[in-house]
Amino acid sequence: MPHINILDESTINKIAAGEVVERPVSVIKELVENAIDAGAGNISVEIKGGGIDYIRVTDNGCGIRKEDIPKAFLRHATSKIKCAEDLCDINSLGFRGEALSSVAAIAMVELMTKTKEEVFGYRYRIEGGKELSFDEAGIPNGTTVIVRNLFYNTPARRKFLKSAVTEGGYITELMERLILSHPSVSFKYTLNGNVKLASTGSGDVMSDVYTVFGRDIQRLLVNIEYDSENVRLRGYVGKPELCRGNRNFELFFVNNRSIRSKLLSSATEEAYKPYMMLHRFPFVILYIDIDSSLIDVNVHPAKTEIRFYEEQELYRIVCEAVTAGITKRELIPETVTKAPVNVAPQPVKSVTVPEPFEEKRLEEYTKTVKETALAGSNVPEPVQETLFKEGFLSEEAKETHRIIGQVFDTYWIVEYKDSMYIIDQHAAHEKVLYERFSKQIASNAVTSQLISPPCIMTFSPAQADIINENLEILEQTGFTVEHFGGNDFALSSVPTELFGMSERDYFISVIDGLSEKNVKKPEEIKDRIATMACKAAVKGNMRMSEAEAKALISELLLLDNPYNCPHGRPTIVSYSRSELEKMFKRIV
Ligand code: ADP
Ligand code: MG
Repeated sequence: MPHINILDESTINKIAAGEVVERPVSVIKELVENAIDAGAGNISVEIKGGGIDYIRVTDNGCGIRKEDIPKAFLRHATSKIKCAEDLCDINSLGFRGEALSSVAAIAMVELMTKTKEEVFGYRYRIEGGKELSFDEAGIPNGTTVIVRNLFYNTPARRKFLKSAVTEGGYITELMERLILSHPSVSFKYTLNGNVKLASTGSGDVMSDVYTVFGRDIQRLLVNIEYDSENVRLRGYVGKPELCRGNRNFELFFVNNRSIRSKLLSSATEEAYKPYMMLHRFPFVILYIDIDSSLIDVNVHPAKTEIRFYEEQELYRIVCEAVTAGITKRELIPETVTKAPVNVAPQPVKSVTVPEPFEEKRLEEYTKTVKETALAGSNVPEPVQETLFKEGFLSEEAKETHRIIGQVFDTYWIVEYKDSMYIIDQHAAHEKVLYERFSKQIASNAVTSQLISPPCIMTFSPAQADIINENLEILEQTGFTVEHFGGNDFALSSVPTELFGMSERDYFISVIDGLSEKNVKKPEEIKDRIATMACKAAVKGNMRMSEAEAKALISELLLLDNPYNCPHGRPTIVSYSRSELEKMFKRIV
C-alpha cells in the first residue's frame, strides 16, 4: 500500500487550474470578469498567437492595494465573499478565488495595478506559482494582467490546444458575448495587432448588436420586455428567417452573466416551434435579471451554468415573452413577394418561407411509432432498410418496382417483390442531392451559377474568420465569396446543382456548420459543406411535382447506399409481406 501524501500548494493549484483554465479563452473570461467586478468602464483585451503566446487585459477599475497583491494569487483568495452565507446572494461574476492562482500556476504572469488612493502602482511577476519580483511602478489607476506562454510547464495540457487561429476564434466569440452582456462597458479587442471589435459602452444594447452582428441581423430583430415579481426580462428575438443550424446564437445573460442553459433554450425553442423547422435554432439575445437568492451560480467551475429554483415559472415567462415577440405584427415574414405579375421572375430568391413540414413529419412519425408500440408486441416494427437487403438497387429492380402513391405529402409507398417500402421524400431528396454534389466535388467538377446582383451578408467576426480561412475551399465547392468590408461578404455564385433554392439560407447553414464542428482536413470541410448545403437546399425547396418525385425515387434507388440521408436518418423503411400478414393475423 503506497503512503498517503498531502499535496503541496503548487501541485494543488495546477490541479485546480485544470478545472478553471481549459484553454486561452478561459483565461480571458476570468480576467475580464475580474475587471468587470472591479467596476471598470473600459476594458482592453489584446491577444497574440491565439492567446497561447500572449494575453493582456487592461482595465480602469478599482485596482488592488499593495498588501493584497500577493494574496490575490493565493488559492481561495477573494474579496467578493467572506463566508458560505454570502454564496446565497452573489452579485459579482467571480467569487471562488481560484482564477489568478490557477492562471499563475500554469503560465508566466505579470500584474500591474494601482488604486486611486495610493500614490504608486505596483508591478508583480509570478511564474508557475513562484513570485519573481514585486516593485513600485508609475502606472495609471486600474489593473493590467499579462499572461504569457500558457501551459509552458504542463506540456501535456498544451498538446490539447488547437491551432492559434482556432483558439483565437474562441476568444473572438467570447468577446462578442462579453460586449453583449455588458452594454455599459466599453471594450476594445485587439487580435495580432489589429483592433477587431470595439464597443462604445453607451449602455445601448442595439448599438452592441450592430458592433457584433452588423446591420443585416440588426434589422431582423424585435425587442421584447417582460416584468414579473422576481424576473425582469429584456432582449431581442430574431425573425424566424434568421434561424441557424446550431445553438450558437441563443444568447442568454442572467444577471449579466453569459450562460448556457437547457431550460432557457427549450423555453425559447418551444416558442419558436410553430415557426421553425426541425433542427433549426432561433437567434435570440435575452437579458434576464432575477433575484440572486433564486439562483445558484455555484454549480460549474467556469460558472457558465446556473441552477434556477423556480424553473417552471421561468420557463413559462421566457416562453410567453418570446412568443409575444415572435407574434408581433412586423415579424410576420413576407411569404409572398409582392412582385407585379408582368415582371420577369427574379433569378435569386431572397425570401425564405419557413415550412411547417418538418414539424408535421415529426408528429406523424412519433404518432406512428407510438401506435405501433401500443398495438401490442406481436406487431412488427418497421424495419429500416440496410445495405444487406438485396435487390432494391439493381437496374432491373428499377424497372419492376411499383410506385403506389404518396401519403401526408411526404411519404412514397413503393411495392417491390415481397415488400412494401416507405420512402421519405424529403430525406430522399437530400440524399440524392448530396450524392450528386459530393461526386462533383470529388472529381473537381463543380460548376457555379452566378447570382446577380450578389447577395451581401453580414457575419459575426468569428464567422468572418471562418469564411476567410476557407475562401479557397468554398470556391472549389462552387461558392464564390468576396470580402465586402467589415464583416460583410458578397456571395456571387453558388453550385449549379443547388441553384434556384434559397442560396442565402444555405450559405449561412454552411458557415454555421463549419463553426460548429472542428473540421480541419480539406476533405472533411468539403463534406461538411456538401452536407449542410444539401440539407438547407432541400428545406428551402419542399414542393415537388409527382413526376419529379418519381424521378427522384428512381435516382435514389440506384445509389450505392440509398438507405440513409447524409445525417444518418433513414430514407427508406420496409414491411415484408409476411410482416403485414402477421399484423392482420393471417399468419401467426
Ligand atoms: P475571484 O474573482 O473569484 O474573487 P480571482 O482569483 O479571480 O478570484 O481574483 C482574486 C482577487 O483579486 C479578487 O477577489 C479581487 O479582489 C482581486 N482582483 C483580481 N483581478 C482584479 C482586477 N482586475 N481589479 C481589481 N481587483 C482584482
Ligand atoms: Mg475572478
